[in-house]
Amino acid sequence: MSGARRPGRNFLFVPGPTNVPERILRAMHVPMEDHRSSDFPKLTLPLYEDMKKVFQTKDGQVVIFPSSGTGAWEASLTNTRSPGDKLLAPRFGQFSHLWIDLARRHGLEVIVQEEEWGTGASPERIEEALRADKNHEIKGVMVVHNETATGVTSDIAAVRRAIDVANHPALLYVDGVSSIASIDFRFDEWGVDLAITGSQKGMMLPAGLGIVCVSQKALAQMEGAKCTKAYFDFADHFRTNPGGYFPYTPALPLLYGLRESLAIVFEEGLENVFARHRHLASGTRAAVEAWGLKLCAKEPKWYSDTVSAIMVPEGFDGADVIDRAYRRYDLALGAGLSQMAGKLFRIGHLGDLNELMLLGALAGAEMSMRDVGIEIAPGSGVAAAQECFRGGAGEQRMAAE
Ligand code: PLP
Repeated sequence: MSGARRPGRNFLFVPGPTNVPERILRAMHVPMEDHRSSDFPKLTLPLYEDMKKVFQTKDGQVVIFPSSGTGAWEASLTNTRSPGDKLLAPRFGQFSHLWIDLARRHGLEVIVQEEEWGTGASPERIEEALRADKNHEIKGVMVVHNETATGVTSDIAAVRRAIDVANHPALLYVDGVSSIASIDFRFDEWGVDLAITGSQKGMMLPAGLGIVCVSQKALAQMEGAKCTKAYFDFADHFRTNPGGYFPYTPALPLLYGLRESLAIVFEEGLENVFARHRHLASGTRAAVEAWGLKLCAKEPKWYSDTVSAIMVPEGFDGADVIDRAYRRYDLALGAGLSQMAGKLFRIGHLGDLNELMLLGALAGAEMSMRDVGIEIAPGSGVAAAQECFRGGAGEQRMAAE
């Protein structure tokens, strides 16, 4: 960033990290303290119970540790698998790709189901592959619930049904990094075995905490797991966490931030958080339609409520829109990744966000597109989103108050 002062707020609309509410910033502003004191468990123990509510689980066991989402991917695999184990994974975007790559680097054999980017996991193909695996060599199915690179949400309940219908014992590993605490995620009901998230998206915190929920079935497989692990060994957590402690020095401000984040989520109500994300996503989609543009997500069934990946017209570079938005309007939009580089820009609509903030981002996207030569009628997307916002979640909230 240049040295010139930029007045006003930066509009952060990348799909993570998301805006950190003032309340959380203040809650994290704490002096350091003894993390082995007899008072410390008062802070930590409720975090596990409350995170279980976010995962929507009774029996799952939550692990909270210093890492970003990538470390949580790694921990979920190394704690439950041995080198040479076979996993099945659909690939339909940069994050599903990176997770597969990480698994392979740990010596796991991943059978990849290629799906077109803009679509998601195919329960039918998963069922077919599992039915064909008569000797149950496939130990797990890895699915990214919300592919942040393309703005696609997959149907995890349907994937669970596919595993059950095939009568297959594979564990279900789900990346919920850009869905958990923003899009409905039901650990118990969907029979998820390992759910992975990070702190910097729906939880509205800075990056720095990996959070994993482990099913009883997955816990039972931990003992035989031979993948190398040390810092991420869940066994060390399970020894120390029940007393309210950690196997190493915890990231204190982030734990205080998590305390506040959970309070905020429960004050709004998890259901209302999901409804708000749906509502904001609908407004964004109305704007995209009014601009005459297309989403990367091919059909409504794939539409994500946390991120919209918007295709720029032929002959334009999405990176130019993003650069213009950032330099001229102080608006941060998400880039196209890997095979989508230059073809799209992304608007993250998750976390601590309301209608007017989003309208600001839509206006900025509109102005930036026009500045680089994309023909958009000024105000068209903003007007469409406004129409969509009339009524909806905001009115329901007011009626309830
Ligand atoms: N999975 C998904 C769906 C993501 O969106 C991201 C990051 O954006 C990751 C995993 C990786 O997380 P991190 O960047 O926190 O390591």
